[in-house]
Amino acid sequence: MRAYHIYPQFGDLEPDVAAFVYRSRKDRFYIIINARLNCEARLKVFFHEIYHVLEHMPQQAYILGMDMQRCEIEEEAEMFAKEVVAKYMEGRINYGV
Ligand SMILES: [Zn+2]
Repeated sequence: MRAYHIYPQFGDLEPDVAAFVYRSRKDRFYIIINARLNCEARLKVFFHEIYHVLEHMPQQAYILGMDMQRCEIEEEAEMFAKEVVAKYMEGRINYGV
């Protein structure tokens, strides 16, 4: 992760914010995930934000909340996150991890 300058961490966020990403002046991306979320939800929001970092290279912060705007990039990020988590959960079942 550090090779891409992506720094995931958990934060004690308000319940209506699932996660957010921001880009520092040194071009580091910080993904802050709400520590209140369960394991599967944490993974999903993490991949959602990763998608923004990789595809949209945010100039401003992206905030993933329960009332998030339904614009095109949000839908793309959601699709990506759902696919990755579905594959991950499938793998866990297949390999019995
Ligand atoms: Zn988003």
